[in-house]
Parts: sequence; C-alpha cells; structure tokens
Amino acid sequence: MLLDQHGRVVNYLRISVTERCNFRCLYCMPEKPFSWVPKENLLTFEELFKFVKITIDEGVNKIRITGGEPTLRGDLSTFIKMIHDYKPDVDLALTTNGYLMPLYAKEYKEVGLKRINMSLDSLKPDVVNKIAKKDVFSEIIKGIEASIEAGLRVKLNTVPMKGINDGEIIDLLEFAKSKKIPLRFIKYMENQHADSSLKGVQSDEILEVISKKYNFKKVEKDNNSPAQYYELEDGYQFGIIEPHKDDFCKTCNRLRLTAEGFVIPCLYFDEAMSIREHVRAGDIDAAANVLKEILRNKPEKNRWANSENESSSRAFYETGG
Ligand code: SAM
Ligand code: SF4
Repeated sequence: MLLDQHGRVVNYLRISVTERCNFRCLYCMPEKPFSWVPKENLLTFEELFKFVKITIDEGVNKIRITGGEPTLRGDLSTFIKMIHDYKPDVDLALTTNGYLMPLYAKEYKEVGLKRINMSLDSLKPDVVNKIAKKDVFSEIIKGIEASIEAGLRVKLNTVPMKGINDGEIIDLLEFAKSKKIPLRFIKYMENQHADSSLKGVQSDEILEVISKKYNFKKVEKDNNSPAQYYELEDGYQFGIIEPHKDDFCKTCNRLRLTAEGFVIPCLYFDEAMSIREHVRAGDIDAAANVLKEILRNKPEKNRWANSENESSSRAFYETGG
C-alpha cells in the first residue's frame, strides 16, 4: 500500500501520455509560442508501463490516461491493453476532448478501457470554437455518442468562465441529464499558460444558478472523488470540482506521471522527480525509490488552497489536469 506522510492512501495514478493537443483551449494552452518536448525525451509505452507495473504492485487500482490530448498518441490502444492485461480489475479511464472518439471509442473499449471523461464547455458551436480555437462542436457531440454506444461509462467536464459560457450552466446540465451521464463543473484554475483575462465561476455561483430552476441536495462526499456531488429531485447527480477549497486536498489519493517520465506529487506543485533514465536502463529498484521519495514529499495542500490568486507555472496540458 502506498501511504504518504499525511496518512493518505495513494491508489490513483494519472498518466499524461502526450502534451500535444489538437485544440488550444483558452484555459489551458497559449496559441503560441510553442516548444514541444523533443520526441527523444518522451517515454515509449513499454517504458511508461515499467513504472505503471510498480505502482499497481504497490496498490494502485485506478489509472487515468490523459494529456494533452491522449488520443493523438499513436497506438494508444496498445497501452490500454498492456495495463488491462496486467490487472484487468484496475479502474482504467481516459480523459479526452472527444474529437477522435468517433474513430476510437469501440477499439479502446475492446482492449479494456472502462470509463471516459470528456470536456464539453458549451452547446453553442461558435462558443466552442472560441474556447478550443477550432471548429469542433459536431465532432465532440459525435464523440460523446460514440463513447456511450461503445459501452464506455461517460462523464462530462465543463470549465465555466465569466462572460464566455457561464450563461449555459442550466443548458449543459440538462444536456448531460438527457443523456443520463454525470456532468462536473471544474472551477477554472489560474495558470500561466491560460488566457490572462479569464475569470472562473465560484461553486456558490454555479449552485445559485441551478437552484433557480431545480431543488437539489448535497450528496455525502466520496473520498475517492475530487468532486462534490449534488442530487436533483429526480435522482440525477452533478458535481463541482473546486481545488481552491480547503478540504480538496484532504482526500487526495493521486500521483501524476508525465510523458517525459516526471512523477509529480501534486497538480499545483512544481516539485517532480524523473524516472526516465531508470526505466530506460531497466533499473526498476531505482524507479521504485523515486516513487517512495515522491510519496515522502507529497505536500499536504496545493497552493490554490492557500490563496485564490495563486497561479501555477505548471501547464495542465503537461500534467494532464
Ligand atoms: N485534452 C483532454 C481534455 O481536454 O479533456 C485531457 C487533458 S485536459 C488538460 C484535462 C482536464 O483539465 C480537462 O477536463 C480540462 O477541462 C481541464 N483543465 C485544463 N485547464 C484547466 C484550468 N485552467 N482549470 C480547470 N480545469 C482545466
Ligand atoms: Fe487540449 Fe485538453 Fe488542454 Fe483543451 S484542455 S487544450 S483539449 S489538453
């Protein structure tokens, strides 16, 4: 079992398999300038898997593949299959912008993917275009449908932003409800790669908008979920993820691994250690020691929890959000 020095059990690994993306979301990526990590610095799936096995052997039972846009990495289904075949009962999930899911949903499901989280920030094609800086609305919707049809369990993620999509909170909720899939509103997290004029919407503001149309009650928080869920009278549940809240970190059960081989103890913190040379040299003991060291250094709280105005220098497209 992986236990950090604050008594939290770490059983969840998020793997960012690429920092590249086919979108340029306002809250995540600058349009330019861009300097991608050189290809030779990226770990192969075999190399990433060497570290994944260590974590599974130590008790990790939930793995999420993310990015950048993970579906851009060629042959992602090979990596999904490697993890599934090693431990079929691992809760294996993917976070994607959905654009390529009409192409891949069935294939990923067949090799062992169980769940998928997809970003949907607006139901208006021109607003989606403004946020993603690409005309992608119809492909995203097709991606949602293809994923449901393939039998994947789907959740939707929305980042509400003032003056951009904050007028669509009810519409997005009702869209997800009509598809019978949960929607989570993610509070915009300040970071130095996003558009500097962006302003997020607080959880209280989101709840106030919803309360004008629906009665709902707070659901007891599941320690394994970053979201606080709420239930409408008809039983439909939606969630809010707000890393600024003080209790967000209390139940943190996760570590992050980047495509370059950095193990990151906290989404916010810049501290990270590399396993790249160890897995390339086949030195599994050294990679396992990095894991132990990272657990020792896992901070008690992220810095957003200390101040609303904190801004992370680490890019979401690099860490996988
Ligand atoms: N490309 C995939 C996608 O968009 O779903 C996966 C990677 S993306 C970095 C993972 C998640 O991070 C997405 O749900 C996205 O909305 C969220 N995200 C990115 N930047 C964010 C920010 N500044 N604040 C809050 N959430 C953010
Ligand atoms: Fe790409 Fe996802 Fe970042 Fe949007 S949020 S730019 S889709 S990595």
